[in-house]
Amino acid sequence: MGHYTVGVDVGGTNIKFGLVNRSGSILARTSLDTKQFHRNKKKLINALIEEINSLINSKKLKSKDILGIGFGLPGLIDSKKGIVNFLPNVPGWKNVPLKNIVQKKFHIPTFIENDVNLITLGEWQFGAGKGYQNMMCMTLGTGVGAGLVLNNTLYRGEGFVAGELGHMPLNEKGPNCNCGGWGCFECYVGNGLLLKQVRKIFKRDSIQLPDVFYLAQQGNVCALRFWNDTAVHIGNALIGVVNLLNPRLIIIGGGVSNNYRFLGPTINAIIKKRAMKVQAKMVKIVRAKLGDNAGIIGAQVLVKEAIGGRH
Ligand SMILES: [Zn+2]
Repeated sequence: MGHYTVGVDVGGTNIKFGLVNRSGSILARTSLDTKQFHRNKKKLINALIEEINSLINSKKLKSKDILGIGFGLPGLIDSKKGIVNFLPNVPGWKNVPLKNIVQKKFHIPTFIENDVNLITLGEWQFGAGKGYQNMMCMTLGTGVGAGLVLNNTLYRGEGFVAGELGHMPLNEKGPNCNCGGWGCFECYVGNGLLLKQVRKIFKRDSIQLPDVFYLAQQGNVCALRFWNDTAVHIGNALIGVVNLLNPRLIIIGGGVSNNYRFLGPTINAIIKKRAMKVQAKMVKIVRAKLGDNAGIIGAQVLVKEAIGGRH
């Protein structure tokens, strides 16, 4: 029986491929630029197949050596039927039966999943969430997402769209959000908004978030205040999660989490102060461990969970 898994993490800017062994180590990897395939679905599918093929060949493996292939995709994914319903940042993708297409090509069991869920699975089994039965993994980036592990199982929701943490309203009268709602959490902590804020604060159009991290390290008061304000928004949004789900652990991942040093203490303080006593006492807030590899490693968990105890 196959010992290896192929993980494919499809993002809006690049696609990462990795060959993963049973203990969650990446043995080989490759990547593709996503933008060259915009609006050309067929070309992208062919490129995905070619890359998977070369990854398997690079280690001189055969189909029988591969337990399964797992995809993480940024959008609405029907993981049960194996259909990509919609990818908002990869134009041209609507109702694509990706699971069947890939499975037919390689004769290897193939599974597809929302990208944040895949990251959550990776962190849960091999990263910061090891050993936890009730946890949430949030990703802070251009968008704000979350994956939920409840009672030792990934919780997907009825329509496979649970975990939209970024669209929990923080403000009844807040700014319009691209989800069609307003005052959403993402409107306050999404990368786009954070960048806009720092450009205003520092009066520099070229400034990036890592620059503000650097300034905070130097003790710059404006930078420290900016990260503190961001942490206040995150903490306030997480109070609802803590009270509702009573998780043991919340993992913070994504690009913005690189600033965990300046975010963590305030987030923790707000939860301890404002969440309900029992829940607040139990929950631990930590930084993600696997970084950019979480999705590829999560594919191994997805395949293993889907194939179940048969292997
Ligand atoms: Zn929204």
